[in-house]
Amino acid sequence: MQTTHVRRLLGAEPTLRLTPSLSDASAHTAWSRKVRAVVERLARVEQAPLAVTAVDTSDENGLRREHLTLNSPVRGAFQATLLAPQTPQAPQDTTAPAPAVLVLGGKNARLAQLTGETPPDFPDRNVAEHLARAGFVTLTFEHGIGGLDEERRAGREEGALLAHAFALTGRSLLGALVGDTLGALDVLATHPLVDPARVGLFGHSLGAAVALHTALLAPRPLPVCAASHLGSYPALYERLLTGYEGAVLPGILEYADLGDLYAALAPAPLHLQYGTSDSYLEPADARAAAATVHRGYAAAGAKDRLDVHELPMGHGTHVRHTVDFFTRVLAGPGTGPGTAPGDVPAQRVHFGVAERRAVLDRIDAALASGHLTQGPELARFEELSRTWTGREGVAVASGAAALEISLRIVGVAGRTVLVPVNTFFATAAAAVRAGARVRFVDIELDGLGLDPDALRAALDRHPDTAAVLPVHIGGIVPPALDDVLALCGRRGVAVVEDAAHALGATLGGRFAGSFGRFGAFSFFPTKVAVSGEGGLVTCAHAEDAEQVRRWRDHGKSAHGSTLHDRPGGNWRMSELHAAVGTVDLERFDDTLAARRELAYHYDELLTDAPGVRAHTVPAAAHSNYYKYLAYLDAPLDRTLLKKRLRERHGVSLAGEVYDHLLCDQPYFMDAKAGDSAPEGPDGPFEQARWFARHHIALPLYPTLTRAEQVRVVEALRGELS
Ligand SMILES: *Cc1c(COP(=O)(O)O)cnc(C)c1O
Repeated sequence: MQTTHVRRLLGAEPTLRLTPSLSDASAHTAWSRKVRAVVERLARVEQAPLAVTAVDTSDENGLRREHLTLNSPVRGAFQATLLAPQTPQAPQDTTAPAPAVLVLGGKNARLAQLTGETPPDFPDRNVAEHLARAGFVTLTFEHGIGGLDEERRAGREEGALLAHAFALTGRSLLGALVGDTLGALDVLATHPLVDPARVGLFGHSLGAAVALHTALLAPRPLPVCAASHLGSYPALYERLLTGYEGAVLPGILEYADLGDLYAALAPAPLHLQYGTSDSYLEPADARAAAATVHRGYAAAGAKDRLDVHELPMGHGTHVRHTVDFFTRVLAGPGTGPGTAPGDVPAQRVHFGVAERRAVLDRIDAALASGHLTQGPELARFEELSRTWTGREGVAVASGAAALEISLRIVGVAGRTVLVPVNTFFATAAAAVRAGARVRFVDIELDGLGLDPDALRAALDRHPDTAAVLPVHIGGIVPPALDDVLALCGRRGVAVVEDAAHALGATLGGRFAGSFGRFGAFSFFPTKVAVSGEGGLVTCAHAEDAEQVRRWRDHGKSAHGSTLHDRPGGNWRMSELHAAVGTVDLERFDDTLAARRELAYHYDELLTDAPGVRAHTVPAAAHSNYYKYLAYLDAPLDRTLLKKRLRERHGVSLAGEVYDHLLCDQPYFMDAKAGDSAPEGPDGPFEQARWFARHHIALPLYPTLTRAEQVRVVEALRGELS
């Protein structure tokens, strides 16, 4: 292939390139998130804790050296050295944890030279030693490139061979290096001498590429100093032919160039340095990339956090600038960018790289086969769902569709349907659409379900009741459901469980959705399992399941028939949604376990918290903790509390279930609702009203950390005491 061909190949415009129109901080944040998501996908980091297996420690010459062996699950064992200044920065307080820098050398850097144990081949090679003497704890490790059989290599570059081996498995050498570096960061940050809030990354050449990508994927913003790695990939890989396989993610240039990647680090502190006589890069090209980085930092409102140094040097490191940078950004306690903990959001939908890849593979198969709806993914989704419902399930387009179809099969048109007054609007709206008159019923405060006494009275008042819709609020299947079922059973009234909150929740060991004639589930993004949009109907009787299949597909009288015997709708779930749903259900055991674990931790944290008390889940119920519910002792303004938690503590509470009773919703208050308007003595719903006013829901999702839970409870304490 000729050079012009390569030039052409690399000349294509990356789709996520930072453009001048990206002009404010929120646009930068959104763009940076996209760039990081691509990097995450391409890097395919398999991060697992690095086991530290060997330690020997020596003190000499004012430095403490710990020789470690780190065991990477991907690449095996490699050597590392931790350096610590022996004279503490603050002699009066010898236990004060120090700031730390992870030092990543270039491809040819030897560990002992970086740490100053053997004489450096270049005067600036011993960066780790310089930083340690300036008061930083440093950790340095070998990249583990080097050592392949020379003869068999036959003159080929070892890194290139390794990179190809990784590429064969769809992974990348850089991704593996980043995975190990993330592990090493943990080793460094948890070292007893280190202040975990003040950790930075230094890299030279290949090490700079590793530092950059590590910082893009790290859970917290980290200051980065990158030496002798700047320019554009087309120039480095085509014009100069100096680019190194291990320094780039295969596929990245489809999305972003090197300057874009650095720009995505904003607003974390960044120091870039390069030499005008560096034979691996071109000053003009480096300058152009630096301009992109400047634009990104300006857009993020973080101009003062970026410095770029063009220096009269070769392919090296300017040690003094490096030390100055880290001294500036990691100096005083609490000044590091890592100390500002991110906000605790109300909700987090999280698909890790492996899950995203699985979804993409399944969608790819659907697209390639052209089978886009009602295909193998749907069948698998239905099959998987059985594990947590105990029943045959039929997947549909939404939770609302699941409710409406169930009610249409029951045949509620022209009759009354009883709905708890405390539920999501969709519960009642489905009954309205199915032609029913909706009447509301109060709840009980133990399991938050229908109050059996109120239900009995409502059934007496409305003898034409065709169906009752118990709702398992917050993921609790209430013990009072037994009475509800008995009451309905005696009167021949159908029970349709609105189990939209309750996938996997049980009562007396029985799954939500397995009590009534029908159970309706939702896979909307806020629920415990998601498909994007989606629903599921579980059925006590096989004939009902068959009916659901007809209703969801335009009321066809039989599968594949062109005869329609009922006014069905398009209530199908597409293969694309089912692909998301199957991946989420495959991990649902873990999801449930994580939610329950977090809930128990909240229970512990709240036992002695003043002004707030957890809702006690009834003993027979095993909640899935769709919501973690708690009550405020004092009648507090919940809106104000939520605002203060957000503004003062960065903590967002989850949405209530619910803050308005259905009888107070405009639609049901409005005369236009006509037949559906509740009238007469159904109210006043005192228990539901008390619940709606007093409860809060704490953020709870599988990626919530224990530290975040502590923050949530501390924030509540701060506002309530
Ligand atoms: C989410 C929800 C629904 C509706 O589900 P969709 O999938 O959004 O249609 C119905 N009932 C309750 C209680 C819900 O929380």
